[in-house]
Amino acid sequence: MTEQRTLVGETAQPSPGPATSAGHLLQLLRSNTAGYSRADLLEITGMARSTLYERLDALFAAGLVYESTPLRAQRGRPPRSLRFDDRDKLVVCLEIGHTHAGIHLLSLSREVVASVRIPMEIGNAQEVVVDQVVGEALRLLDGRQPVGAGVGLPAPVDPLHRLGLERTVLAHWDLQLLQEAMESRLDCPVLLENDTRSMAVGEVRGPLDSLVAVKVSTGIGSGIIVRGSLVRGAHGAAGDIGHVRIPEAAGCRCRCGRDGCLAAVASGRALLAAPQFAHYGSLRRLVDAADDDPDVRAAVADAGRVLGRVLAAIVGTLNPGRVAVGGLVGVLPGFLQACRQQILADAFEPSLVDLEIVPADSRKATAVGLCRLVEESLYAPERVEQLLAQRAG
Ligand SMILES: [Zn+2]
Repeated sequence: MTEQRTLVGETAQPSPGPATSAGHLLQLLRSNTAGYSRADLLEITGMARSTLYERLDALFAAGLVYESTPLRAQRGRPPRSLRFDDRDKLVVCLEIGHTHAGIHLLSLSREVVASVRIPMEIGNAQEVVVDQVVGEALRLLDGRQPVGAGVGLPAPVDPLHRLGLERTVLAHWDLQLLQEAMESRLDCPVLLENDTRSMAVGEVRGPLDSLVAVKVSTGIGSGIIVRGSLVRGAHGAAGDIGHVRIPEAAGCRCRCGRDGCLAAVASGRALLAAPQFAHYGSLRRLVDAADDDPDVRAAVADAGRVLGRVLAAIVGTLNPGRVAVGGLVGVLPGFLQACRQQILADAFEPSLVDLEIVPADSRKATAVGLCRLVEESLYAPERVEQLLAQRAG
């Protein structure tokens, strides 16, 4: 329960305005799950007592702060601490894959309250998918109201500029409409993010972590964290490594329409498209056969090696402390081992010092990442200020 709530994404930048606003006070309280006493806050912020108390009152009234009583009465009265009120606040986290969706309810302390995985077809109309996943989310909520929702999508997502989706599996979707439909059905703010970027955020262990998270399932994507900040790039396409052209894929057609992409040889879709594996019928059945079928094992290792070549370049460029590999294919031991060996063989030694190459926490990382992003967005100082102004007005 002493998780350090780290700042990720855009809100890691200092926001304009006085650092003693109610929004900033809440940010300070959120940064320390043990909370602060009033005396602590006076000392840290240097605010006048009356101003501090007035801002705290507003935060109390909005249900954002509570006062915790010490567990045991000690001699003298120990100061009560003020904490961010993360109790009973639920976040809906939706992982949209190519053939399945994960629907999770998380508390703000990242506890998975309920979780279900359903078959789903990304090629279906957007309304059909929304109906399916939101229907499941509402069933899990069972009447409870979420504070926000995060949706992880298998495509580049740029919340600000509405990046074109023409060459992606979401070519027939409209993200603006998707967000509006989900906000209306769930009755809360909805944040859209790339699924692998969400996974990368879920893999952050400390405020200054630098890591690359890679997901190899039907497609291939990556998410990059540099010193605690999520890298989205100029237009939201950072980390989309599946469509880097590589010599090993020369002449292989990718689903994006080009020849020679990494995903055309190293993705789950590419493995499943090999004629000798057609009888498996689904990626799940193919990866389940990796232990028994030597041909699958060899193909998986080849795919891991090819990905390792591309990752070696990324490791050399960014010098991360950790590479976390997830996804149905990515977590196969034979895949990860081949990938690791190739990174170690190809990357320049200084970028390999203390580098960890590990399986991602694929069960939870994406949902946890979405939950963090939603929390950062909901309780960013400027948004809290807006909320308090609306309440006061
Ligand atoms: Zn491609």
